Amino acid sequence: MDSWHVCAGYLRSGGGRVDRYAVQLLPHQTRRIGEKWLAVSSSGDHVFLDDNQLQALSGGHIQDLSLDMQARLKSRFFIGSHGQAGSRRLLASRKAARHETVQTGPGLHIIVPTLQCAHSCQYCQVSRSLSDAGHTLSKEDLHSACDAIFQSFSPSLTIEFQGGDPLLRFDLLQEAILRIEELNRAYRRRIRFVVASTLHQLNEDMCRFFGKHGVLLSTSIDGPAALHNRNRPVPGRDAYERTLIGIDMARGILGHHAVSALMTTTKASLEFPEAIVDEYVKLGFQDIFLRPLSSYGFAKRNQALLGYKSEQFQDFYRKALARVFWWNREGVALREVYASVVLNKILSPFDGGYVDLQSPTGAGQSVLVYNYDGYVYPSDEARMLAETGDVSLRLGRIGTPLSALQASPVQQALVAASTVSEVAGCRTCAFQSFCAPNPVDAQAQFGRFDAPVLTTEHCLRHQWLFDFFFETIRNADDELLDLLHTWARPAVEESVCAE
Ligand code: SF4
Repeated sequence: MDSWHVCAGYLRSGGGRVDRYAVQLLPHQTRRIGEKWLAVSSSGDHVFLDDNQLQALSGGHIQDLSLDMQARLKSRFFIGSHGQAGSRRLLASRKAARHETVQTGPGLHIIVPTLQCAHSCQYCQVSRSLSDAGHTLSKEDLHSACDAIFQSFSPSLTIEFQGGDPLLRFDLLQEAILRIEELNRAYRRRIRFVVASTLHQLNEDMCRFFGKHGVLLSTSIDGPAALHNRNRPVPGRDAYERTLIGIDMARGILGHHAVSALMTTTKASLEFPEAIVDEYVKLGFQDIFLRPLSSYGFAKRNQALLGYKSEQFQDFYRKALARVFWWNREGVALREVYASVVLNKILSPFDGGYVDLQSPTGAGQSVLVYNYDGYVYPSDEARMLAETGDVSLRLGRIGTPLSALQASPVQQALVAASTVSEVAGCRTCAFQSFCAPNPVDAQAQFGRFDAPVLTTEHCLRHQWLFDFFFETIRNADDELLDLLHTWARPAVEESVCAE
């Protein structure tokens, strides 16, 4: 239901009296989930309805519903009192809160100092390079990138160093951090530095520098040693062991909290959902991000070797998440990050800022990537596409003013292709308050931003995730519901996407 309708309802007033009042039916969308109907209002609030309740709501027969249900529909913006400007203002502010992170300007700035890396991971999206030549950011571009970051009005800036492995050019990393800190004496923003690395090159001097400048580390752990070493080959076949040495060193000098880890699900991972989760518990991590394989860049070429059907990922995800819940019941705090992104959308009025589900897209609006090739890209995935020769997502040269990048035809096309109210398919989707098309994904999959949204892997994956978590919420006991609400609280780290 997209428009406003007037009908009648009854609500209990302060003294217990039941008053008849004129009701406005507000826009909402519905979707069958299991035996119930899910209804989502334009504020992003939801209710579950049976067939009769849905009929009463859609037919405007609000008086046929229980007083409790009428009150719930009113507080969740499915119905409003006719002519009440206050409710409209409240609804507008609830909607605005869901888009706040996109409106404050780019908060995540990814600098790629080099494409060099000693690993030869089959799923690597960027085809790492062993040589420096032509694969490293020039000093001039590095300085311009550091200066450009402050053109964003965002009061909080996360600067993330990606690669390749940025520790292979620690000199550039140091130079950038010192320059940004120097500039920030005047700008006075809240700054957070993150380095995404295998940690194989980490040494104590680097740790001491990171400690002095509050730098956090993000690494990759794909699971137990055998699986990790299979996914991430290095000449000595000891990638896992060397990353663990790095984690121990960093935790010893910087503190336990200073290192986080990400995993990528390959075909080989599918057999080990529980073992992967147990590995994260064994290593003392409090977050695990169960990420599907990306089909970007060079990873796309290895799909036959590494890829799997979406049903296989869903099965893996269900089992791994059940294990995470099990650990929490045992008293071990462990959060699954993808779940918390989706739960944040469903259960919290405040958006955590997850770039891939923002409408319009966070790519180029809340994230910018300053790549080693001297160009600015709207997201990490966009620069990965460039490695395969598709440079259509370049926004401009590093040093181009932010206003010009955002007015560029590429950015405008990204915005148009990701605004749910403009995209057929999203316009009638029950998840439109939580989700959005991902035009960068569409470009990777179909070679165009505006591919029919319902055919994209991004859309199908998120339809499944939202269905799954709405069903999980509906069936959760109090203990699980408490955990889901805890995970739903926005956390700044969600906007960071490290490899
Ligand atoms: S991308 Fe798909 S799931 Fe997301 S709002 Fe659009 S139609 Fe719905």
